Amino acid sequence: MYRLLAPAKINLFLQIVGNCLDGSGYHELVMVMQAVSLMDRIELVPRRDRQIKVHCTNPAVPCDQRNLAYKAAALLQQHFPDHDGVEIFIEKRIPMGAGLAGGSTNGAAVLVGLDLLWQLGLTQAELQTFAAQLGADVPFCLQGGTALALGRGEQLTPLVDLQGLTVVLGKYRSLSVATPWAYQTYRQEFATTYAQTPSEQEKARQEGGSATLLQAIQQRDITQLAASLRNDLEKVVLPRYPLVAELKEQFLAAGAIASMMSGSGPTVFALASSADEGYSIMQRVRRALPDPDLDLWVCECCPHGIQLETP
Ligand code: ATP
Repeated sequence: MYRLLAPAKINLFLQIVGNCLDGSGYHELVMVMQAVSLMDRIELVPRRDRQIKVHCTNPAVPCDQRNLAYKAAALLQQHFPDHDGVEIFIEKRIPMGAGLAGGSTNGAAVLVGLDLLWQLGLTQAELQTFAAQLGADVPFCLQGGTALALGRGEQLTPLVDLQGLTVVLGKYRSLSVATPWAYQTYRQEFATTYAQTPSEQEKARQEGGSATLLQAIQQRDITQLAASLRNDLEKVVLPRYPLVAELKEQFLAAGAIASMMSGSGPTVFALASSADEGYSIMQRVRRALPDPDLDLWVCECCPHGIQLETP
């Protein structure tokens, strides 16, 4: 049996450059991703037959073939057919449909766990290849820390990690945003602004502001980092979800160094100068928005991806 910890991610930067020029229908992105210490726990128990069974503490999460943990196990079983099945228990702490890559990090955890359980001896590069087949965010979830992600999000460059930086997360429990909807809506509204050719895309990347953020991360300059956050999907999500826009405003009013929606939302994150300051911000936001539907967490940037849980 193996137990793993699977961190959520936030996007410090998400620029939509244009359509992927390979005709895949995906968007060409520039992202800076950050793993955070809000984590799901995954337990893998071997079965004596070939079945894959998923159980999750959140009843809203599908436990059949749609589950990314299931898909990860099925993918490995297809490549290594000599192995029996597995029972996968997911203790969900990461909210679903939140822009925090909860499904992707579960898929990444199952790849790491089954490599150990089935003694496959996969290299990091082989694990990354399987991860890319499961979804654009899965390679980052496997690696964790702080990373620049290009292409659909699968071309990763690790960055100096921001370990210790405090992040406050806020999400309305009853709100969720479907990632495909957010990208499709963005395309409908902004496709005319897309960079079309490889050279136009390169220019858009260079002018998009990621270089300033990368420099801030390199120098651990939190003020510059705060000024360089970007998320293009805010343009379609915030106008339709006024609660999300209000939450961002309240984080800033409560003293956050910066605040931004993560991924396709609706989670909003805020950066704080210390854990104490993070808890103060959380309390001020709780007082300003006393809605019991609003969940808030104080966590920190985490330097790793999927990890074995130590007893
Ligand atoms: P991302 O940030 O990668 O877009 P997200 O945080 O917005 O992801 P998820 O929590 O991953 O969203 O859920 C998105 C969809 O994935 C849900 O509709 C859910 O049905 C499905 N899903 C599949 N497997 C899982 C899983 N293990 N945990 C949560 N959701 C899952």
